[in-house]
Amino acid sequence: MPEFLITADNRRIIHVDLDAFYAQIEMRDHPELRNLPLIISRDPTESNGRGVVATANYAARNLGVHSAMSAAEAKRLAPDAFFMRPDFQKYKMISQQIHHIFHQYTDKIEPIAFDEAYLDLTDSVLTGATLAAKIRHQILKETQLTSSIGVSYNKLLAKLASEFNKPNGVTVITKDNALDFLARLPIASFRGVGKKTQEKFAVLGVENGAQLRMIPQETLRAQFGKMGEHLFWQARGVHFGEVQWHRQRQSVGKEETFDQFVQTRDEVNLEFKKLAVGIVKIMKNKKLVGRTLNIKIRDSEFNTITRSVTQSVPFKLEAGSIVSVAQTIFDENMNTDFSIRLLGISLSNLQSSGFEEMTLF
Ligand SMILES: [Mg+2]
Repeated sequence: MPEFLITADNRRIIHVDLDAFYAQIEMRDHPELRNLPLIISRDPTESNGRGVVATANYAARNLGVHSAMSAAEAKRLAPDAFFMRPDFQKYKMISQQIHHIFHQYTDKIEPIAFDEAYLDLTDSVLTGATLAAKIRHQILKETQLTSSIGVSYNKLLAKLASEFNKPNGVTVITKDNALDFLARLPIASFRGVGKKTQEKFAVLGVENGAQLRMIPQETLRAQFGKMGEHLFWQARGVHFGEVQWHRQRQSVGKEETFDQFVQTRDEVNLEFKKLAVGIVKIMKNKKLVGRTLNIKIRDSEFNTITRSVTQSVPFKLEAGSIVSVAQTIFDENMNTDFSIRLLGISLSNLQSSGFEEMTLF
């Protein structure tokens, strides 16, 4: 590699990709479907052969079914498969739940799809591998869904890494092993290489990254235009694209630590009320509303419980309704006998309340 390319790219980027997201959610919610080929799409026999596969579980994929395939074709390949209509509203909610987890690690998040995002974790003190393990574990714990994560120093390698060990895996690509990893990668795995490009490469006798790397830049440009240029850099693991995120306020919250532990339900309710009144005031001042309500409870033993409720419409900025959700969550998660050190409430998934105000006046 020319020396000028060996720049100090010390970023820590991860690419998170939930495994067969929609299908996995439906398997989670319908355990009786777990061992069947499951195709998320309208059943072609009920829709005059129309419909497109949104995704399929791995049992169906093993039969050749893949996303974007016509449902009729999928039915031919997997006649015994169960077809289920997608519930995008549900998938979106779960996606938000997962983003809430991401935000505990960084706000530098670039969403690619409901089930896919890049995170820039350069600022974290933890290693990429540790972060990947923690995030995967937390997603599994809170949603019962598995994900694959790629860790590297740029987006290109992070993405290739997450695809490498799918489903339910982690791959870390470091500067030391990047060129090796790319050399072994089949040509079809490089970004932007479709069927046609693959056929062209087959004619040139190029089957993997090592062979791709031997082709001069001019030749690639002449044969494949702009894509050829991209491939030249991909083969060398060079990619300077940044994680595209938008700086925004992520949550408005308040918490209170008690010198004397709170031990009655009435006291808890009173403390929730104080917190909620404070939050409502801040939210109104900042002209914000939020769709996710987060509750934090820490007991005298330092056990911490955090729970969230996400609605499709923002929570009413009314202390009373916030308190009643908080209290319900508290009651569901605590025994009657408790000793509380800290309570917290926050609202996230914020949006401007400006629109509603405009329509009012
Ligand atoms: Mg996915």
